[in-house]
Amino acid sequence: MLSRDSVIYQIYPRSYADSNGDGIGDLNGIHDRLEHIVELGADGIWLSPMFQSPQHDMGYDVSDYCAIAEEYGDVAAADRLIARAHELGLAVLFDIVPCHTSIEHPWFRDHPDFYIIRDVPQRPNNWTSMFGGPAWDRDPHGRGWYCHTFYPEQPNLNWRNPKVVSAMHDVMRFWLDRGLDGFRVDAIGCLFVDDEFRDNPPATEPPRLNQHPDWAALDHVYNTNRPEVFAALAAIRRDFPSAYFVAEAGGPIPELARYTEHFDTTFCFQLLEADAEAASVASIIAEAAEVPGIAWMIANHDFPRLVSRWGREVARAVAALQLTLPGSAFIYQGDEIGMIDGPGHTPPYDRVGRDPYRHPMQWTRDGGFTAGEPWLAMVDPAECNVADQRGREGSMLVLYQQLIAARREITGPLQNVEVTGSVVSFQRGLHHIAVNLGPTTVPLPAVGRVVISTHDLSEPDVLPGYSAVIGKDALRDGGVP
Ligand code: BGC
Repeated sequence: MLSRDSVIYQIYPRSYADSNGDGIGDLNGIHDRLEHIVELGADGIWLSPMFQSPQHDMGYDVSDYCAIAEEYGDVAAADRLIARAHELGLAVLFDIVPCHTSIEHPWFRDHPDFYIIRDVPQRPNNWTSMFGGPAWDRDPHGRGWYCHTFYPEQPNLNWRNPKVVSAMHDVMRFWLDRGLDGFRVDAIGCLFVDDEFRDNPPATEPPRLNQHPDWAALDHVYNTNRPEVFAALAAIRRDFPSAYFVAEAGGPIPELARYTEHFDTTFCFQLLEADAEAASVASIIAEAAEVPGIAWMIANHDFPRLVSRWGREVARAVAALQLTLPGSAFIYQGDEIGMIDGPGHTPPYDRVGRDPYRHPMQWTRDGGFTAGEPWLAMVDPAECNVADQRGREGSMLVLYQQLIAARREITGPLQNVEVTGSVVSFQRGLHHIAVNLGPTTVPLPAVGRVVISTHDLSEPDVLPGYSAVIGKDALRDGGVP
């Protein structure tokens, strides 16, 4: 059973484990490597999409939601994977993509009313696509202009049409009836667009991490986080009261509460995008503490890996931060061993440049991902792999295991968030956590008996640069722990 405190491991199916030597990860490969996630201590897995798809957006362009893409297996393999995960005590979430389908989905040809299509002479407004260029393209079937918030191969569904709502609910029911525990719900803030199709105003905020300049130029008030989204979430919750839902939504932290009113958790992107700087981290975590159901994620298949983004040194401290905060924690496959971004592929598979974050999992010194030619090159398996780190004191993998195990005891609300120079510290119940995001060694804050430290404690009275410490039962003012 997942909760709002669970640890969930993100599997990128194409890159986790290949069972048949075609160089592409698959469901049987995942099935055979589930023990790794159990050893890590996670409560569940989320699989990025592996449904039938022409793969213009690596599976986020679905052409049949109830079939598995041939290279990943079939529905029977999905059933076996779910059953095995449950035997091992892991919950399973799939990735539902409700806002758009593939342009190759038969609905697009046969049911124009399922999509946002405007039969007008010019593009209906100034909306841009998140991946660049206009959000409107000419319908290949001659019906006017169709809207796509992402690639042109991903036409937006029209959730104002009740037939779309029931078709998507049917898809969810299909998988939940097979034993699935829930869904990560893709790009849910884009579920509705303004019914008057008003122009978006110019942006007032600076561009965010990895944002395409065309998207960053506008404030997307008329095609994201529309009020109608929340009624749709409520209807999903009503139909599937016991399924677990995590929303992939953006926006200021206080607004995320509108998502967790209906869903179990919602990703908070602010930490992933933050500068490694104590004051900004402190304000993010303090603000998020006001929203129940925050899901912390510090990397995923759309962004640079933890180590590449924050630096190898500080990555351990950031992992400690993520895993001691209230809320759920999502770990992107490979980050638990400190994998780095790779060179990608020429020509790129992903046109907006996300291949470098998606290189295959490194199991052994010679890769251990496939017996064939991997679809994306192995990056540095000789230096960084699961086998070498397993049981090795001080390895990233062992640190993650220790943090996840310790996390079970770290309960209670976030309290006493403080910033002292480069150190952000906070308290949860009897635990005190201090994270030094700067390079300079500082005196060890009063955290009590040290339970975990990300660096060796040969000098017990200091907190080295880029390190974190978790302590228990500190004697604070007045001698009260
Ligand atoms: C997914 C991306 C995908 C996009 C469109 C996202 O937020 O994480 O990988 O390209 O949705 O479906």
